[in-house]
Amino acid sequence: MKAKENKIIGVSVAVVYNVAKQTSRLAKDPEASFSLWELIQDVGIGYFLTSLPDWIEPSINNPRHRKFFHSLTFFVLTTYGITGNRLERLPKELRGPAKTLGITYLAHLGADSTTKFSLSVI
Ligand SMILES: [Zn+2]
Repeated sequence: MKAKENKIIGVSVAVVYNVAKQTSRLAKDPEASFSLWELIQDVGIGYFLTSLPDWIEPSINNPRHRKFFHSLTFFVLTTYGITGNRLERLPKELRGPAKTLGITYLAHLGADSTTKFSLSVI
């Protein structure tokens, strides 16, 4: 998957995730307000960090560059890490960005899984 395609996917996923998150928060607390700053943060993560898996395992002249950080195992570990209360260990201000990073990472792996070389199991 090319970097431009990853950015489109990363930003799209970040926007959908952020709007769903903020809509849920607004439904629970009518006194809350929509945070444009939070949306901008998530879009920034989706734009700038969506290629993180390819930075870790670059595809320079090697179409079979995908190893552990492009595997189904890492997909499951990332999902486990961002669900439940596991991010509660982080400082409060990092929990939201960490979850958005995890979701955009999963989106990258999901997109890569649709390509010819897909993802490895391990
Ligand atoms: Zn990739």
